[in-house]
Amino acid sequence: MTMRYELLAQRILEGAAVRFPNKEIVTRVGEGTHRYTYADLLTRTARLGNALRELGVAQPRRVGTFAWNNYRHLEAYFAPPTIGAVTHTINIRLAADDMAYIINHAGDLALLIDPDLAPLIEAIAHRLTTVRHFIILGEPEDVTTTLPGAVSYETLLAAASPEYRPADVDEYSTMGLCYTSATTGLPKAVAYSHRAVYLHSLTSAMTDMFSLSERDRVMAVVPMFHANCWGLPYSATLVGASQMFPGARPDPRAICEMIEREGVTLSAGVPTIWIGVLDYLERSGVEYDLSSLRQVVSGGSALPLAVLQAYRDRLGVDMTHAYGMTEAAPLISVNRRRSWLDGLSEQEQLELCAKQGVVAPGIETRLVDENGEDAEWDGEQRGELWFRGPWVANEYVDDERSGETFVDGWYHSGDIASIDPDGYIQIVDRVKDMVKSGGEWISSVDLESEIMAHPDVLEAAVIAVPHPQWQERPLACVVPRSQTSAPLTKEVILEFIQPKFARWWLPDDVVFIDEIPKTSVGKFDKKVLRERFESHA
Ligand code: ADP
Repeated sequence: MTMRYELLAQRILEGAAVRFPNKEIVTRVGEGTHRYTYADLLTRTARLGNALRELGVAQPRRVGTFAWNNYRHLEAYFAPPTIGAVTHTINIRLAADDMAYIINHAGDLALLIDPDLAPLIEAIAHRLTTVRHFIILGEPEDVTTTLPGAVSYETLLAAASPEYRPADVDEYSTMGLCYTSATTGLPKAVAYSHRAVYLHSLTSAMTDMFSLSERDRVMAVVPMFHANCWGLPYSATLVGASQMFPGARPDPRAICEMIEREGVTLSAGVPTIWIGVLDYLERSGVEYDLSSLRQVVSGGSALPLAVLQAYRDRLGVDMTHAYGMTEAAPLISVNRRRSWLDGLSEQEQLELCAKQGVVAPGIETRLVDENGEDAEWDGEQRGELWFRGPWVANEYVDDERSGETFVDGWYHSGDIASIDPDGYIQIVDRVKDMVKSGGEWISSVDLESEIMAHPDVLEAAVIAVPHPQWQERPLACVVPRSQTSAPLTKEVILEFIQPKFARWWLPDDVVFIDEIPKTSVGKFDKKVLRERFESHA
């Protein structure tokens, strides 16, 4: 029999500090950079753990983080779990009501807050029922907040012992907590076990997933409060990759500068980030050397084929499409080309890249149709994706809604998809975003993907608007590029996409707007658009 060895999140960090003590962790701080090593990370994590212990945080108390992507946030990813407590990453862009709700629901005892974000917490401080300690992620002079008893993080760390004393916990105990970004109703809490995060890190680093190694220089643009930053802070640490954190308000310029200066090899973010970077490069005309980039990971919503193509043609960069959700820590699949598909034509390869990929080893999948039957994996039949596996949740924490989503050991994703005979998932739409026209379903994702292929279109979102005869009809909301070759009109758009779709799929109307509203994690906010155009029909 093999020894029993608990798969604990802190073991990821301990290993990095032993095997890669001198590898770098770099953070953009204003116009400058902060640099230190995995050895420093371990020492400061130990200090933070001890400081939290002094404050009475221990198993299974929760520590909220309210911060940008930076090295202190990375310390907060590791320190609470090392003392048997829980790191709860709070989305800094939530509405005040949701923010107060999740901090109280989580029962956070302490909050770690970036100095410039403190006013957002000040505004809800009187509603927080469990927080006893407000810790400002900075030096004493950074503590300018009115939050009661606020202390400087660096003061706390300086006073704490550097001795690393990890707690002995069960691998199934909770080490992380993340709320889904409320698209309907109150946010729902997902808890992660040490074991889930460890196995997720190992698997996502594999060659057929993110393909990470010590040689990589990883920059997550995806916020550290969005679905565990897709696991990258853990998987990059596990393999000893150097990590780059883009700091506060990373705009396209900051992203490009960091890639060039630090030789970033892998970066990750939602499609709107990558659309924004491309647009910035074209508008500004500034030339960056982005040749270090080995892969750009895009996930969180469907990656339009046109964006994939633009990165390949204009920047010589291959984009890797990833799919997942908060409930799955978050990775379900990463799109890698299987060996037997090497012979595909260039166009076929591109179309393959636009799919969401094949599920990770360890994840079990079902594709279930409207009648509750398993649909064929023939690339045609559609169904809802159900998952189970070592890092998939089995409930929402303290939430009556769990029963609707977690049924008989399967997580029901609410995503409608087909799966082809090679196992590649293609997301058709979220159930709630599909357009139901005369009893038939129209995929908003397919339509907007084609519209975004028009060279004069920057962004496009398709939504359902109520219709007296057909129940719902699609409406296209389009953002033109700042400079277009000819004026964009409804006719131009419809003519452009018409060859791709049956007539009844074509949007009834096209409205031109300045910007597509975004959710707190940067996805197209169709709820806001639906409300705005409710009476458009
Ligand atoms: P939220 O539900 O608040 O957006 P998540 O990031 O957890 O937060 O969302 C997960 C959902 O995002 C998935 O269920 C799916 O609908 C969508 N999604 C994630 N990745 C992709 C992708 N690559 N392509 C299409 N949809 C995606």
